[in-house]
Amino acid sequence: MSALLDQLAALLGPTGVLTGEDMAPYAFDWRHIEDSHPVAVLRPASTDQVAAVVRLCAAAGMPLVPQGGNTGVVGGTVVRRSRPACLLNLGRLDRIRDIDPLDHSVTVEAGCILANVQAAAEAVDRIFPLSLGAEGTCTIGGNLATNAGGILTIRYGNARDLVLGLEVVLPDGRIWNGLRRLRKDNTGYDLKHLFLGAEGTLGIITAATLKLFPRPRQVETALIAVADPGAAVQLLSTIRAASSDALTAFELMPRFAIDGARQLLGRDFDPLSAPSPWYVLLEMTGGRAGSGLREATETALADALEQDLVQDAVFAETEEQRVRLWRIREGLPEIGRAVGGAVHHDVSVPVAQVPALIERGQQRLAAFMPGIRPYPFGHVADGNIHFNVARPADMAGPDYLARSKEITAIVHATVVELGGSISAEHGIGNRKREEMAALKDPVELDLMHRLKALFDPAGIMNPGKVLLSGEESGR
Ligand SMILES: Cc1cc2nc3c(=O)[nH]c(=O)nc-3n(C[C@H](O)[C@H](O)[C@H](O)COP(=O)(O)OP(=O)(O)OC[C@H]3O[C@@H](n4cnc5c(N)ncnc54)[C@H](O)[C@@H]3O)c2cc1C
Repeated sequence: MSALLDQLAALLGPTGVLTGEDMAPYAFDWRHIEDSHPVAVLRPASTDQVAAVVRLCAAAGMPLVPQGGNTGVVGGTVVRRSRPACLLNLGRLDRIRDIDPLDHSVTVEAGCILANVQAAAEAVDRIFPLSLGAEGTCTIGGNLATNAGGILTIRYGNARDLVLGLEVVLPDGRIWNGLRRLRKDNTGYDLKHLFLGAEGTLGIITAATLKLFPRPRQVETALIAVADPGAAVQLLSTIRAASSDALTAFELMPRFAIDGARQLLGRDFDPLSAPSPWYVLLEMTGGRAGSGLREATETALADALEQDLVQDAVFAETEEQRVRLWRIREGLPEIGRAVGGAVHHDVSVPVAQVPALIERGQQRLAAFMPGIRPYPFGHVADGNIHFNVARPADMAGPDYLARSKEITAIVHATVVELGGSISAEHGIGNRKREEMAALKDPVELDLMHRLKALFDPAGIMNPGKVLLSGEESGR
């Protein structure tokens, strides 16, 4: 072990290998569900250094756990004592290698913070349309390795849809330079998609060429009161048609979002005159100012009002008002923490089934535990609901969390019944492996195991994540 650490220190320099208390900023689980105990934290500064680290560790049989901003919520970067490994933090690979507004593309290193990529795009009058609450901390490498979603997916797709090319260090230390900028390339298997969403189990993404888009000139944001999720889904369809599909975000929130923001986060902000059980936060963008987007939306909303789909609505008239509306939505993950005991679920169903998911889930949870407070919210236009469930007000947090497996079983059974997925955008990590193994089609699962064995026969890439090991699965 110490021989390996000496070789790594010679390669990366003294600040590139951490083994003491200086590992603390990297060796933790974002959700603080479990501890993380890496053998060392390695901080290479170039793709060649990443490749050299992989070769040294492969020769020594030392597994590697890639890490970006460490904002993942399914334990993907956690190192358990039972599986010794080094954390490979990509934070020093943070250069924007090339940006070409004419080509609408940017090539960035994996450790670039997402917000910095967005800012680089804006500096050349373009946008990089991946947007999520953790964007000031998460990295492109982590976004691509988890195939992140976020709030703009309805218009621009998931992280996977925004990638033109990849550079990857393979488990044997070879570098695959797939940084192509082509929009069309049908020369055989499209290998980049294997690494997107693989959560670091097949290789280490070191750089990516990403798509940019024209910067919208008109943005319309509205908070809309709706009676229930069914009305929200109908409104979604109406607005998509009325706005020529100019919708960029359509987020469902329960009243809990506004009450929670007031009671728990101290934000006294209730934009509509009367309380409503459900809200939609909608945003539309157009290529030019004065494109009639606002008028088209107002007409659609007036029709929806007559059909009783909508109770009330308010548009943001200034950027400040827009930011305040979005803070309600962005506060929802904070409310989960403030409430002192919440069980989180990131699930998806076909869009039309969202109302059934919420209704059945809420009914079953209420029958299971009186006083339980589900607050499902999220990207309803993608069928992706964060079905979070807060403890009853009179129940102690630890007592409640001790029942979390039963709560999750209720939510996930409802999702499966409706043809959905138990992980919409956060991945599998080390938390949902057993469930995925139980639910996936056996043929699909078998192909996944074969791919893993083909790419990483020694099993050194993020072991214990996504798939069960041979021993665990009895394979
Ligand atoms: C407040 C908050 C809001 C969030 N909102 C959203 C949301 O709306 N949508 C969404 O999809 N997610 C969301 N997330 C989850 C998280 O931010 C995303 O999963 C993000 O993409 C992770 O990026 P990261 O750099 O922090 O990755 P990490 O947490 O460092 O890593 C995540 C996984 O990717 C692997 N990995 C990291 N870098 C690489 C690499 N270079 N090569 C190979 N594998 C790598 C890791 O091993 C791990 O398995 C949110 C998280 C928080 C805390």
